[in-house]
Amino acid sequence: LVTDLGLTDRNSNGKFVELKEKGLHLLKSEMLAAIPWLRHGFSTRLGGRSIFPPGALNLGFTDSDSREAVEANRMAFFEALGMDGFSVVRLRQTHSSQIALFESTRPSPAAIEADAVVTRLPQVILTVLTADCVPLLIVDPESRTVGAVHAGWRGTAQGIAAKTVATLLRHGSGSAFQLCASMGPSIGPCCYEVGVEVLRSFQKEFTGADRYFSSLLPGRDPAHPVRGPSGPDRPVERFSLDLLAANRDQLVEAGVLPENISISASCTGCHPELLFSYRKENGHTGRMMAAIASVE
Ligand SMILES: [Zn+2]
Repeated sequence: LVTDLGLTDRNSNGKFVELKEKGLHLLKSEMLAAIPWLRHGFSTRLGGRSIFPPGALNLGFTDSDSREAVEANRMAFFEALGMDGFSVVRLRQTHSSQIALFESTRPSPAAIEADAVVTRLPQVILTVLTADCVPLLIVDPESRTVGAVHAGWRGTAQGIAAKTVATLLRHGSGSAFQLCASMGPSIGPCCYEVGVEVLRSFQKEFTGADRYFSSLLPGRDPAHPVRGPSGPDRPVERFSLDLLAANRDQLVEAGVLPENISISASCTGCHPELLFSYRKENGHTGRMMAAIASVE
């Protein structure tokens, strides 16, 4: 157990533990780690053997990394999480709100086009890849149904977290108050600047969407934004977006109890040495993985 990365910061809602396992640095939600038949984890960039970024734990098949290195990194990641020998479901993520229900006993090697996936099957690893977007893992302890979600701004605006809860409930125990959810590191409002088109997309989908946006006045420190969108007297076109808050609220509105949601407040943009940030690294970076599986 290491605590020197500073990623288990006190702003997180719910505790995360940092594990140094076989050379990899991983994050786990304490709440999910307490479920004996469950395996899960969120990767960091530390401990892999990627070509690019050199020596990093890139888990996505990017143009700048070798396939062999990513395969080796994935194997090490799954092994460190106690998932070796399990089948892996791969997604082709398209920033949609498409949710796949995985029921096949023989996973196909082809990726499924979806941004969330749910299964009731044991020893099947559900994965999502992120570098700024929110990685969300959800568990229904009674039916042992698990889900993994990739929520960027488009998926969030389309309600992917709430829709995944609905899918879990339909195929699981049906009781939302039992669900446990955990969000790993993603880009915080401190670093996530968006244009007015993002605000408009949210406003189209939700009432009260404005509360996730803060105006960024020209020349103003983005770390100290003004809350709420600007009025007509303040022609501000840039906003900071709080993706975590939007996803947390979707979960709560879908019936998940706030105390059953653990959120890592570690910002990918603020920790480029520990986490991959597509924004901060101008798209030239690796991908982190969130993975979940039931053992039996
Ligand atoms: Zn930040």
